Amino acid sequence: MELLNIKNLDLAGETVFIRCDFNVPMDEFGNISDDRRIRSAISTIHYCLDQNCAVILASHLGRPEGQVVAKYSLAPVAKRIQQLLKRDVILASDVVGEDALAKAAALKEGEILMLENLRYEAGETKNNEELSKKLASMAAFYINDAFGVSHRAHASVEGITRYFDNEHKAAGFLLQKEIEFLGKIIQNPVRPFAAIVGGSKVSGKLEALINLLPKVDKILIGGGMAFTFLKHLGYDIGASLVEDDLLDEAGRILEEAKRLDVKFYLPIDVVAAEKFSEDTLSKIVPSQEIPSGWMGLDIGPATVRLYREVLNDVQTILWNGPMGVYEMEKFARGSNKIAHFVADSYATTVVGGGDTADLVQRIGVDEEMTFISTGGGASLELLEGKILPGVASLMVQEK
Ligand code: AMP
Repeated sequence: MELLNIKNLDLAGETVFIRCDFNVPMDEFGNISDDRRIRSAISTIHYCLDQNCAVILASHLGRPEGQVVAKYSLAPVAKRIQQLLKRDVILASDVVGEDALAKAAALKEGEILMLENLRYEAGETKNNEELSKKLASMAAFYINDAFGVSHRAHASVEGITRYFDNEHKAAGFLLQKEIEFLGKIIQNPVRPFAAIVGGSKVSGKLEALINLLPKVDKILIGGGMAFTFLKHLGYDIGASLVEDDLLDEAGRILEEAKRLDVKFYLPIDVVAAEKFSEDTLSKIVPSQEIPSGWMGLDIGPATVRLYREVLNDVQTILWNGPMGVYEMEKFARGSNKIAHFVADSYATTVVGGGDTADLVQRIGVDEEMTFISTGGGASLELLEGKILPGVASLMVQEK
């Protein structure tokens, strides 16, 4: 898959619109707690500034759902970019309103303008044509460097590309790097290939699980999604997270794994708690013995040992989604232990997803991973072999 390359564009002195993914986690005081995504976008921004471009940066942050919500303002992101680049960043007060359009029109070479949160506009997630057109009208060139949202057909990701021909649009360096790396893994994974899939819900990763099955040798399940499978198998899972409407679907995945001879592992023990809280009573129990009314919030030590053994001979590991409620120390041990094991492994290790990236960074093993993808959903969809809508429009047409 060859993407339109930013280096082939004649950018000198032009206005460039860069769709970035600055959807960064914030702490309770509104501080950016992990700026990996911002730092990852810097090369493309630098490259454009070095070509004397006027640079327009656009991103979403959180889910304001078409409303202007102050806590989702990109102001802290603009400040962080200013610090990283040591250059002023002008922040527009809207996305495609009077202020943004005026500031974009007045932008000079070497200046940086940041639009407000794209999702303040309801049309963004609806791939609204009007919005795409307005965004496109601000610049002569379009660059997508937002791998994390490239699996979404949104106005600033997909719709906008229709207003630029192949000489005026391209993938940024981050998008190139992610697609290249993950592409290699899909085409030629060194086997055995294991996927560790966790996180809260099966629903978000259902399709990914089905599509991953033909590609991997083993799947290890953790996190809240495990309980839908365990319930399907007839276990009493107490008050654990479960998606009752997906019990049949869980069965279908298990059947399909069996048919394809993919080894499918579920937690054999869990850390169960009386309440969803850090200071609640908790105990380690086999998955069959979750006390009634209690909830499983982490994988237990026997599962950690089992998963280590399962991963021992593996040559490629893809990890997406935490093994438990890692945000609470009490339920972070399973995730932490798996993170250390994956980090120490000599396998090619790929971590995808904001939460998983956050957790490996928290315990300081991020440098040990082969690759940390900035996009969770996007990396999964790519590994499933899907063509992402934001990427499709930036592909070099085969002649
Ligand atoms: P996701 O966004 O689907 O990748 O899910 C990540 C979230 O899943 C994290 O915030 C975890 O706290 C949460 N999570 C992981 N394990 C569990 C569990 N056993 N019960 C409830 N939530 C969980």
